Parts: sequence; structure tokens; C-alpha cells
Amino acid sequence: MSINKEKYNEIIKELNAKVTLVAVSKTKPAEDIQSLYDLGQRDFGENYVQELIDKETALPKDIHWHFIGHLQSNKVKFIAPFIYLIHGVDSLSLLKEINKQAAKNNRTINCLLQIYIAKEETKFGLDEKELDELLHQIAMEPLNNVSIIGLMGMASFSEDKNLIKKEFNHLKRLFDKINQLSIINYPLSIISMGMSSDYTIAIEEGSTMVRIGSLLFGERNYTK
Ligand SMILES: *Cc1c(COP(=O)(O)O)cnc(C)c1O
Repeated sequence: MSINKEKYNEIIKELNAKVTLVAVSKTKPAEDIQSLYDLGQRDFGENYVQELIDKETALPKDIHWHFIGHLQSNKVKFIAPFIYLIHGVDSLSLLKEINKQAAKNNRTINCLLQIYIAKEETKFGLDEKELDELLHQIAMEPLNNVSIIGLMGMASFSEDKNLIKKEFNHLKRLFDKINQLSIINYPLSIISMGMSSDYTIAIEEGSTMVRIGSLLFGERNYTK
């Protein structure tokens, strides 16, 4: 077994009941997910559609599968029947496709809007102005089979704790602003921020959902 049991128990203790742990299992074998499942973990995050489908087929049906990668519109249909939460939504066209596929499956799909908070060009997400536009478009043209329940963000990959803190704080302030202004007619409840290297800072800044991979499953090897 290559999962880190001690670390898992430590993290579970550290997160108070208000913070949900999404165990990020991308590139890791189904057996490792099963091991963590056997310890009680139910929320798992994946980045690649084909890999997610294979694992969903092989593993227990009561797992909550989170899609945390960059989702292409033409792949939504493959995960629509079972996906629990899509974290990285960053366009109206993607939302519309999710809405369409959710309707086909007679369900509502929960989504988080991904916000660009880092200082790096490589990260996806909406800036503040794009977020505002998107929320107003949704308010005018409701999508009945998607539920936007929060925001997601990734901080800069940096040693600078103050920078990371500032970026997470920015996301929290956007979240509060949306709820105060009631731009959409229901409150957002989830802020998905924090990974292995920065989740303690994220929790201090108000995260309600952390996405942790390598601390639980070990480093990823993309070349195998
Ligand atoms: C891979 C990934 C994570 C987990 O990263 P770790 O550093 O292994 O904890 C979290 N969020 C997203 C969006 C990811 O792609």
C-alpha cells in the first residue's frame, strides 16, 4: 500500500468539520483509491476524463467524484451521468454544455467557477470582470440543470507565503462580494482552494474545500 495513512489521519484531524477534503488521485492506481476509501474517504478528485471514467467503473458507487482539471466541452457527456462536482468551469459555453448534458441525464450538476488568482500565465480561470459578466449572463438566462455552488482557485506556485495568502484572500473577498450583492439569487457555499503545499494557508483564508494529492498518495510520476 503506497498511501500515507498517518498523513491522512493527521489532515482529517487538522481540517475542522467545515472543510471538505478532496483526495486528488490523478495518475494513481485504483487500489490506492480503494485503500483510502477503506479508511473512510469518499471525495476524490481527477483531472483526466478517460482516467476518471475507468476509475468510476472499477470503484465503489458511493464515491463523490470531483473533476478538477480543465474540462473540454466535447468531453462533458462522458462524465455527466455521475460527476459530483466540476471545479474548473471558466466559460458560459462550457456551462451551457454541462447544462445540456445534465438535462439529458435528468440531473443537476454542481459547478464551481474557476477564478484566476495567481501571477502565472499558465493557470486557467476568470478574472474579476469576466466573472461579473458571466454571473450577470446567468442571472438573465438561468441554466436549470446546473447549480453554481462556489468558486475555485489556484495560488501561484511559490515559496512566498505572503503572496499565496494574498491570492487566497482575493478569492475569499470575491466570494463574499458575490454573496453580499446577491448577483445570483442564491448564496455560494464552497471555496475550493488549497493543495498539498499551501492548504494550511488556504484554510486560514477561509477555504471550505481543499484538494490534496501528493501528501496522501506520494509524488506523481507522469512519465510512466
Ligand atoms: C493535481 C492538482 C491538485 C493536487 O495537487 P497536490 O500538490 O498533489 O496536492 C489540486 N488541484 C488541482 C487543480 C490539481 O490539478
